[in-house]
Amino acid sequence: MRSPLVIGNWKLNGSKQLVAALLGELQKSLVPYRHCEVAVAPPHLYLDQAAALLGHEPMIALAAQNIDHHEQGAFTGEIAASMLQEFQVTYVIIGHSERRTYHQESNALIAEKFASVKRAGLTPVLCIGESADQRAEGATQEVCRAQLDAIVQQSGVSAFQGCVIAYEPLWAIGSGQAATPEQAQVVHQLIRTYIAQQDANVAASLRLLYGGSVTPHNAQALYAMPDIDGLLVGGAALQAVTFTDIIASISA
Ligand code: PEP
Repeated sequence: MRSPLVIGNWKLNGSKQLVAALLGELQKSLVPYRHCEVAVAPPHLYLDQAAALLGHEPMIALAAQNIDHHEQGAFTGEIAASMLQEFQVTYVIIGHSERRTYHQESNALIAEKFASVKRAGLTPVLCIGESADQRAEGATQEVCRAQLDAIVQQSGVSAFQGCVIAYEPLWAIGSGQAATPEQAQVVHQLIRTYIAQQDANVAASLRLLYGGSVTPHNAQALYAMPDIDGLLVGGAALQAVTFTDIIASISA
């Protein structure tokens, strides 16, 4: 049985004040929903503050939004996965479409990052998904498979054991136009089946999150799908009320 997971991706938003206020509110409002695992991904600069606020037995896990694939050295401006171990980080988002698009991250680079996160003993949250054009061309399956294949080629299918994959169609991110539960389920099932063809145990352990314009209004119907194990939330994660409502609606 896969336990539910909801991750809030704060992207390039935050300040010390926002971190304190948002985490303070969430630590109160999420108390009734402790059976749902919740994580937030603030910008790296605020992970230390967030870890201190969450304390030793945190009810909210921490995720990082990105890492460099190198362990150390002359890579100005980057951070290594191993550094995150000191900040109570559990998850690392890899291959978000904004990284793929604005930073030209290739499948091969993302596979290197995935391997680096694993080496550091952290859990990768691999984002995959197709653009609107790719969907219109009927290439969704091919695109998602290529994104998965890069990881398998680099690290083997066993590297996915216990990991998280977020299906985030590009056309749904920040657009207000979420995939329908049925559209999302089709792709989630494709992902799980594809991994299962290589290793059934790994496929059963994988938590598959849906991301893209999740709101308190659509969360429940998305989560009700058999291969959707949780949600990756962007914009709606920046307000304690909406983020909590999303978690409440899948906990009902
Ligand atoms: C995201 O960027 O991961 C995301 C899902 O964003 P939004 O919820 O704002 O569409």
